Amino acid sequence: MESRFFDSMLELITVTSTNLPPDVRAAMRVAMAREPDATRSAQALTIIADNVDEAVACEGPICQDTGMPTFELKVPVGANQIWMREQIEAAIVEATARGKLRPNSVDSITGQNSGNNLGPGTPIVHVEQWARDEIEVRLLLKGGGCENSNVQYALPCELSHLGRADRTLDGVRKCILHAVWQAQGKGCSPGALGVCIGGDRTSGYLHAKQQLFRTLDDRNPDERLAELESTIMSTVNGLGVGTMGFGGQVSLIGCKVGALNRLPASFFVSVAYDCWAFRRLGVVLDGERGTIRSWLYRDPDVAVEPMLAAGAGRGYRRTGQEITLTPPLDEATVRALQVGDIVLVSGPMFTGRDAVHAYLMKHDPPVDLRGAVLYHCGPVVMQEDGGWRVTAAGPTTSIREEPYQAEILRRYGVRAVVGKGGMGARTLAGLQEVGAVYLNAIGGAAQFYARTIERVDGVSLLELGTPEAMWHLQVKEFPAIVTMDAHGNSLHELVAEESGARLEMLRA
Ligand code: SF4
Repeated sequence: MESRFFDSMLELITVTSTNLPPDVRAAMRVAMAREPDATRSAQALTIIADNVDEAVACEGPICQDTGMPTFELKVPVGANQIWMREQIEAAIVEATARGKLRPNSVDSITGQNSGNNLGPGTPIVHVEQWARDEIEVRLLLKGGGCENSNVQYALPCELSHLGRADRTLDGVRKCILHAVWQAQGKGCSPGALGVCIGGDRTSGYLHAKQQLFRTLDDRNPDERLAELESTIMSTVNGLGVGTMGFGGQVSLIGCKVGALNRLPASFFVSVAYDCWAFRRLGVVLDGERGTIRSWLYRDPDVAVEPMLAAGAGRGYRRTGQEITLTPPLDEATVRALQVGDIVLVSGPMFTGRDAVHAYLMKHDPPVDLRGAVLYHCGPVVMQEDGGWRVTAAGPTTSIREEPYQAEILRRYGVRAVVGKGGMGARTLAGLQEVGAVYLNAIGGAAQFYARTIERVDGVSLLELGTPEAMWHLQVKEFPAIVTMDAHGNSLHELVAEESGARLEMLRA
């Protein structure tokens, strides 16, 4: 009998990438209800909700960073694991060709993108046997921005704002609070944490990530850990990090803690940070046929309830205070902008992330960047009818470009940088010096921002791979918030300071 295992894996990948699980949706609805109307966090959450609905409607990736595919399998004794892995890899290739996954697997030595999401270590597949005749497959798609916000503490240690963290559950509590504070908006808050107490450096991170396969609303069977999770959730939102680090009432939508035994000399606390685009689903398959018997985390017979109420309207909701920017921008226009201004960009925009920044440090730009808007973005792009169509295009984490950004502003005359999570002191000084701004777009809102792209006018440096190439986009009413201006002000610094002061109040 022909197995449907490949089809089931392709369906699992597609639905996981495009349809947020019900428990995450419920937590995000609670977050939306808690943020007062018209605040920056409320506006960002509305864009996120619109994006989640759009992803379902067009079966497109919720976020352009479709992450590291991590499969956890439980298989009957005697199942052919080599064949299953091959089938999973084939499904990954097909999902990439269909634009459900972005080509995300990069050779760490050469920087070459494999183009099909396969390569050493990609995808991650863990298999264990169980005593049942069916197959269970769980999948987590976790992107780079939140992966970079993971952190591991070795206790005892000194933590900024919190003092000493001892080898106690209170020390663990401090580490978890610190992890949320240090991530700010870089991991696309509000996020969810998987935490492991103990283990070694490797098993600790693995166990922390495995906690993300628990539902956000479950209860830890270990009463001590259940209490710790509940303490975190009842206090962490007082930090005021808010959505995308804009400041606000909700910084975290879940905290799941596990524990492993450790060596007497070691006491690690490993934290796996996942973003609001928390893509995790699973299926139970018929062991013989490979067909889907049931889904985990979702009931396919229950209609997906939209995040935005019917009639609530789609897209960015104007307040009348928005400032229109039409590149190329002049210095006076940009110097007039202040932190907190909301802008709508209409006109040309060029993408550029890690490889483009490294390139521009050694070569002249392939296009004239004077007055330009440079977008930190690695989009999902499909070739169609001899042209290109962007199917997902949210911002990537900007802080990675901190070593280069100020120099690129100085050399080439870029007037606005768009990204997420903010940048550091060197960029802030560069913005002030040349007269430029940093615009924070809403991380993960890949479908929302793809809709603002009217067309692709061209591409440079395609040899760097589609996410890393410089795409020449024409956008219309692309919304973003000025979070770093040309006067030396940074909303990111302000929120980090204020939330740091609140962190101090949670010391005891
Ligand atoms: S939502 Fe943000 S952190 Fe999450 S995968 Fe997308 S860009 Fe990365």
